[in-house]
Parts: sequence; C-alpha cells; structure tokens
Amino acid sequence: MVSAVVLAAGQGKRMGTKTPKQFLEMNGQPIIAVTLGVFENSPEIDEIILVTSADYVPYCRKEIVEKYGFTKVKDVVPGGTERYDSVQAGLHRVTERARERAAGNYEERTSGVERCYTIWDYVLIHDGARPFVTEEILKKTVADVKCHGASAVGVPSTDTIKIADEEGFIRETPLRSLVWNIQTPQAFELKLITRAYEIAKENGMTGITDDAMVMERSGLAKVHLVEGSYGNIKITTPEDLRKI
Ligand code: C5P
Repeated sequence: MVSAVVLAAGQGKRMGTKTPKQFLEMNGQPIIAVTLGVFENSPEIDEIILVTSADYVPYCRKEIVEKYGFTKVKDVVPGGTERYDSVQAGLHRVTERARERAAGNYEERTSGVERCYTIWDYVLIHDGARPFVTEEILKKTVADVKCHGASAVGVPSTDTIKIADEEGFIRETPLRSLVWNIQTPQAFELKLITRAYEIAKENGMTGITDDAMVMERSGLAKVHLVEGSYGNIKITTPEDLRKI
C-alpha cells in the first residue's frame, strides 16, 4: 500500500495574503486541487490523507475533495502549528488505516503460511504548495523507496552553496557536485518514519525543516536522493505565483 500525506495546514505568511497560499488559484483552480490531481491520477498512489488547519477541514472536504471528485482522498485531518506537527497528524491517520487493514488481513490469513503478515506500507509526504510535481516524479520516488526505505526528491544545486558562521562570514564551501536542493515528495517505509518521528519527539523537535532530516537524525536509515525537476518549486512568495 502506498499512501500520500499531502500538507495544506500552513498559514503562508510569506505570501502576505489572507488566504493561505495553497488555496490561492492557479489557472482557475486552487493550488491544492492541482497538487492533489497529480496524486489522484498516479497509478502508484493508493490513498491520500489531506492535512489542513482545523478551520479549513470542512472547506477542503466540500470545495476540494467533493468538488473535484478526488476518490483517493480517504480523509481530511487537522494539522498543527508547525509543519512537523501536521506531518505527524497525517502519519497517525495513515497508521490507523494500515492497522485496520492489517487486522482484516490477519483474520483472512490465520490458517495460511503467511501467519505473520508482511505488508509493506509506504508513505509519501508532500507539500500541498508544490503543484508542479509530476506523475514521473511520483513513479521514480515510489520505485526508489521500495528499494531504499527512505527517499527524498531533490535537484543538484546549480548555485555554489556557502556555509556561513554566526557572524555572517563564509565558513565553508561544500563541493557543488554533492550539494542538492531538496524538495518533496519524501517517501519512507511507514513504520520507519513513524519511529523516526517518535525518536525526534523524545529528543525535542528543534530545527526540523523536512522529513529526511528526521530520518537522518534518528540514525534508522540513510535517505536516498531521487532526482526531481527544477520546476517542482514550492509556491512561497507572490513572485512564485506571478511566474506561473
Ligand atoms: O511553510 P512551508 O512553505 O514550509 O510549508 C510547506 C508545506 O507544509 C505547505 O504545503 C504548508 O501548507 C504545509 N504546512 C502544514 N502545516 C504547518 C506548516 C506548513 O501543513 N503547520
């Protein structure tokens, strides 16, 4: 089973609009509907959990999921203050559904050799504000996570990146060929990312900006890079919208 957690619980403060950026329109459709459309149409994706802020849950159910007929969206759940709170809310729902399925399978299989069922569940975590993700990227990501257990989409950096010190001086220049700009989706074996988040919680969630980082810090698995596309941008500022 391959699930997707699509995040749309951010306030989008950098956009400077009253409406959070993922609900602004792009070619006549809310950005989140464009994003969800790619997941809905991908044969690689079995189900989607949409995470949004509590006050947008009814809107998303009616004006997004129902209106655009997204049959793979199995639930819309409230997120949290930080991105990682929203991710955990989505993972929680995906895990609940996986448990329900596993319980059903166990009933069916108790007399068979597969008594201890091995059902590999994978989850892709994606920013709702990245509508330019493609079916090709999803396909590559799913293939990669099935092989490595932890994968993150990104692109090799075209800029030279500098690491600064606290005083604003350059401390270090990493070798450009090894520097990547990281995007989403990021994909994991479900139990692995759930455990990684538990470890992060035990250690205090400081400075977490993506899910790969949670996995890196947990030490549970190395995260493999998947080459995405330079077009898979996150809509963040009004300039990003004007570029469309
Ligand atoms: O704020 P940022 O651009 O990093 O957000 C990336 C994605 O995470 C967006 O799609 C946003 O809606 C989502 N997010 C969320 N819950 C938060 C913050 C961000 O679902 N508390």
